[in-house]
Amino acid sequence: MSDPTPKPGIMAIDAYVGGLSELDGRDQVIKLSSNEGAFGPSPKAQDAYRQAAGILHRYPDGGATALREAIGARYGLDAAQIVCGAGSDELISLLCQAYAGPGDEVLYSEHGFLMYPIAAQAVGATPVSAPEVELTSNVDSLLQRVSDNTRLLFLANPNNPTGTYLSGDEIGRLRRGLKEDVILVIDAAYAEYATRDDYNPGIDLVDAGANVVMTRTFSKIFGLGGARLGWAYCPADIAGVLNRIRGPFNVSAPAMAAGLAALADVAFTDKARDHNDQWLAWTREQLLSLGLEVPPSAGNFVLARFPGQAGRNDNAADAADGFLKDRGIIVRAMKAYGLDDCLRITIGREDEMHAVIDALKEFMEKPSP
Ligand SMILES: *Cc1c(COP(=O)(O)O)cnc(C)c1O
Repeated sequence: MSDPTPKPGIMAIDAYVGGLSELDGRDQVIKLSSNEGAFGPSPKAQDAYRQAAGILHRYPDGGATALREAIGARYGLDAAQIVCGAGSDELISLLCQAYAGPGDEVLYSEHGFLMYPIAAQAVGATPVSAPEVELTSNVDSLLQRVSDNTRLLFLANPNNPTGTYLSGDEIGRLRRGLKEDVILVIDAAYAEYATRDDYNPGIDLVDAGANVVMTRTFSKIFGLGGARLGWAYCPADIAGVLNRIRGPFNVSAPAMAAGLAALADVAFTDKARDHNDQWLAWTREQLLSLGLEVPPSAGNFVLARFPGQAGRNDNAADAADGFLKDRGIIVRAMKAYGLDDCLRITIGREDEMHAVIDALKEFMEKPSP
């Protein structure tokens, strides 16, 4: 009997590996590896999720009507142009399924989110990455790599794992420089954390009728990564395409209930954003003072680069990762992103940030082996 053969390209995929959440032999860890909100889910979202348990025999509303209307009301959007998904990961995959295939190219930035090349390869398309400048996506570099075969351009803004972002003006310049039929997907997973004046999640570009899709998630500031809930704001025709190919009940009822309650708990997200503003700045300052390189971040995490040390040929980021793990602290190693000398650290609670900085201080002061 011969083995079934997957479609071309699929075996070339390096499967996505999420952040660790456990360490052998430890009941308690500090998990700063997946950019999950520092405070977990809002208590109101937890209640709504529990209440949905009583109606689990019912199929969910496949149109996610109540949730789309609430999102529309909160952000001033037409609910008909919103498509919900089981995480924004699903929407990224659906966009690739609908618009790219063998012979097509999917463009993204050098240190862009790994789901972009994975979703592209899964449909047989070719991922193409554009070099960054100072760990920041670069409009000219992206535009130079557009070809006749480019179908989609994914840009996380702010970007994960670098934390850097492009201003609204730069994104506008990117859109104007693209061929009209290339869909620009702005992945604004961290939009709620981005507080700078020149930041813009991209709603106006979708409204301007350009081929722009903005994706958002409930996995970060809303603290609902375990529920799997995201949404896309699209031109009406693209929403129509995604609605044709998505699963008819792609979002579960408890996830929608939790999402609705989380969206309404504005005080909770305000608190989370204020906390992030304070501890993101503090953490970056601390890391800089330890001699690490840290690009300015607009998300709820920082990327820390460990400079090579003379006389020390082990990888300092690796060594620091091991040192932290020994102390029960999990951060994210960055090899899969080609950032071998970096670790990404999520902004957690105050005590967690003190713990990780104290441990890194100890690590940096340790004499080289
Ligand atoms: C975390 C993250 C997401 C969210 O993915 P979900 O599937 O919604 O959990 C999307 N894009 C980027 C860049 C992220 O970092």
